[in-house]
Amino acid sequence: MSRPVQFNTNVKVVEMPEGYSGEGFFATSFDKVIGLARKNSIWPLPFATSCCGIEFMATMAAHYDLARFGSERLGFTPRQCDLLMVMGTIAKKMGPVLRQVYLQMAEPRWVIAVGACASSGGIFDTYSVLQGIDQIIPVDVYVPGCPRARKRSSTA
Ligand code: SF4
Repeated sequence: MSRPVQFNTNVKVVEMPEGYSGEGFFATSFDKVIGLARKNSIWPLPFATSCCGIEFMATMAAHYDLARFGSERLGFTPRQCDLLMVMGTIAKKMGPVLRQVYLQMAEPRWVIAVGACASSGGIFDTYSVLQGIDQIIPVDVYVPGCPRARKRSSTA
């Protein structure tokens, strides 16, 4: 089976911040440099459970190779990451753990709810499953849908 990876010939370079430039020098303020780095080098912390977590692991593995976008710097410590990626079904029992991980991350921090379960409980409308992680932590981006359902329909 051929590898789905293509060479990226459409690489974009970010604009430089406002500042003063002359022959051989460029000067700007420290907060603009920090902001530029922060905006373009997000460090994700994966919080993966159930099938969405497995989908994420497959995306990171050699076949799909997410690292080719330069986005592979996953951290497994809240202290060094600024993007919490919640992928999978979150049981109510796990809620306090997720909240603690979120609170341990330094500001500024962002949260992505990946998949129907993390966003809304998905198909698990039961007493034991949290009906969306936004019941316990703020969410910045919701990624709707269920990869497992897509796979089911594509192989039916
Ligand atoms: S959204 Fe679908 S793939 Fe993701 S955890 Fe829920 S059931 Fe599994």
